[in-house]
Amino acid sequence: MIPYSRQLIEQCDIDAVSNALKGDFLTGGKSVSDFEEALASYLGVKHVCVMNSATSCLHVAYQIIELKRGDEIITTPLTFAATSNTAIQCGATPLFCDIKYDGNIDERKLEALITPRTKAIVPVDFGGNPLPIHLIKEVCEKHQLYLIEDASHALGSTIDGVKVGHVADMTIFSFHAIKPITTFEGGAIATNNTAFYEQAKLLRSHGIVKKELWNSDMVTLGENYRLSDIACALGLSQLKRLDAFIDKRNEIAHYYDKRFSNNPFFTTIAIDQNKRSTYHLYPILLDRSLWCSKEDIFKALHAKGLGVQVHYKPVYQFSYYKERFGEQSLETAEDFYRAELSIPCHQGMSMDDAKMVADTLLEVLTSIKGCLL
Ligand SMILES: *Cc1c(COP(=O)(O)O)cnc(C)c1O
Repeated sequence: MIPYSRQLIEQCDIDAVSNALKGDFLTGGKSVSDFEEALASYLGVKHVCVMNSATSCLHVAYQIIELKRGDEIITTPLTFAATSNTAIQCGATPLFCDIKYDGNIDERKLEALITPRTKAIVPVDFGGNPLPIHLIKEVCEKHQLYLIEDASHALGSTIDGVKVGHVADMTIFSFHAIKPITTFEGGAIATNNTAFYEQAKLLRSHGIVKKELWNSDMVTLGENYRLSDIACALGLSQLKRLDAFIDKRNEIAHYYDKRFSNNPFFTTIAIDQNKRSTYHLYPILLDRSLWCSKEDIFKALHAKGLGVQVHYKPVYQFSYYKERFGEQSLETAEDFYRAELSIPCHQGMSMDDAKMVADTLLEVLTSIKGCLL
């Protein structure tokens, strides 16, 4: 089975991890700050604070802006549940804004959702395709809202050559196994705001600060969201190859773009000329006539060894959300969910694999009958 995404672990990663295992510090050592500095320099931002997951980073970012009961955030329904779950954990209510057909939040619909309770806008760079973050930043500035960018898919994505991570108050990245690079589990907050960075470090580690000798103080209520030195050693090793990973994914994606242009079954998502996507996902959008056959298509592709997946069921459709916040329906998010399949696109694939994926996909779709509308 060729999965839709997969980590690439090579000998240098194994060496880095086994060396780290022999070190004096398995956690709380120098690999952590080395990894943070390497990330900050790669991104070109002032500060990076790594944690044990992007979910932890989101939770900490919301605590830093003092998100609390009665507050609202505006986010996308086309994301992993953690983007809004962590806001609910702070007591806040997530409002979902509809998306565009590229899977990113529709910035034109944001203002209509702003209320006196809105505290932040939290968009996601879907599949690694960079958001029009400057437009969203303008809305935030006009209404004095925080901007937290969930860039879990987008480490290394660029707009006009500038990496994602410069514009929002805080930008969150994920190092989960199959994200652009991995630290097994892990995540990071990137920010140019020194006060936010200091807060993030405190909240990551119990809110405790060291004083002199044995003396310490706990100044705020924090968590243990630290990332180990072993994980950071893997991250450092992976980060060196991130641009090569992205190049590989782009090579496959460009092959798919060409191969699939003008096919009768589905459309693909074009990335603007001035942008580079990590292609964490390569989504295809099935023609309406095939929506009712999607389960059959999914099964047939899996049977042929294509580990396709669907991203995402709109978050408001989860039973927890329905019970707590009521039924909702956003037109484009619903259509996108019915149409979308993420096909294999990752750095462990060869171009022969990509050709096999394309051949198999077109062959399966040719054999499936669309439904009569
Ligand atoms: C993966 C992901 C997360 C959560 O990342 P973890 O590191 O697994 O906690 C959050 N948001 C989005 C959009 C993701 O894809």
